[in-house]
Amino acid sequence: MKDLHDITHGELLSVLEELGQPKFRAKQVEEWLWERGASSFDDMTNLPKTLRAALAERFTLGGVSQAARQQSADGSRKYLLRLADGASVECVGMPTGQRLAVCASTQAGCGMGCAFCATGASGLTRSLTAAEIYEQVMHVRDDFGTRVTSVVLMGQGEPFANYDATLAALRRLNSPDGLGIGARHLTVSTCGIIPQILRFAKEPEQFTLAVSLHSAVQKTRNLLMPGVKKWSLLNLYDAMGTYVDITGRRPTYEYALIRGVNDTDEELDHLVEFCRGNLAHVNLIQLNEVPGSKFQPSSEARAGEFVRRLGQVGVEATVRQSRGADIDAACGQLRQRVERRSS
Ligand code: SAH
Ligand code: SF4
Repeated sequence: MKDLHDITHGELLSVLEELGQPKFRAKQVEEWLWERGASSFDDMTNLPKTLRAALAERFTLGGVSQAARQQSADGSRKYLLRLADGASVECVGMPTGQRLAVCASTQAGCGMGCAFCATGASGLTRSLTAAEIYEQVMHVRDDFGTRVTSVVLMGQGEPFANYDATLAALRRLNSPDGLGIGARHLTVSTCGIIPQILRFAKEPEQFTLAVSLHSAVQKTRNLLMPGVKKWSLLNLYDAMGTYVDITGRRPTYEYALIRGVNDTDEELDHLVEFCRGNLAHVNLIQLNEVPGSKFQPSSEARAGEFVRRLGQVGVEATVRQSRGADIDAACGQLRQRVERRSS
């Protein structure tokens, strides 16, 4: 059975017509799906009971359900959400004053195998549907009871290995018929799948792009990010040049500082060369320690040196402390980058 979230507006209209329903029902159904977040057909109280039953016979209503929730002293909340088939994903809500930033997942697990990432260690379970990406955001909105002002797709998974669903979710988040979040406040983070970066550059919306760089030295990057080995740093450099030419927007480069691996003077020189003269923001991340991993975070002094040297060539760089440091950090990546997107 198909999920009702996964059919198009046109398909919904013809299903309703088949069921002898007036056209305005489509709007009512879509409101339940994308604005109110119905968790069962019986929630759809303004639909006739017979229609609810007929829909239930033909479609599932997917949905995410909360398996666990942790609350941090700083107000952020991390959720483990269960999908209809039993797979689960994590997402996080981070409030700051009137703002609420959400970090959501695009896949259960991830197949890219980055050496420092907790998600990468367990491999890919499956890609999420657009609705499953979107519903994480609705879940956080409902839990906080406030409007979501920004979303970053920096949870589990590689968004560009699930491109179509990711774009459909972003469009729905952006739409006035969805959550109405401005495109610039919707950020995709990719490990650097080049054909998709070029495709993303041509999308009409002004979505924001973050690229996980983590090293501007080929050998180091191959070691840290084996899943993107087939695209060289030179390819990435060129693709990002094209991205900036087409969009005029400034990309963020994420760089988790790992002691003795990518925080040396030589690494810094290469990073400076990668960014010099280009539109770029560098987001220096304190590495989250993954249990059993040999990688350790750099010192604050090293991070400061990176900021200083990048600043000398006019590249803005920020170091952010993790939010929710007192709640389980096992997901390895969720909180830190989100903070700067919401500020
Ligand atoms: N797959 C995408 C998006 C999800 S990962 C990507 O890789 O960009 C989101 C961010 O968390 C990426 O920048 C990733 O490199 C980073 N990350 C993963 N593991 C981390 C860890 N242990 N400490 C700090 N950042 C980590
Ligand atoms: Fe996947 Fe991103 Fe983790 Fe790499 S860092 S394994 S791409 S989730």
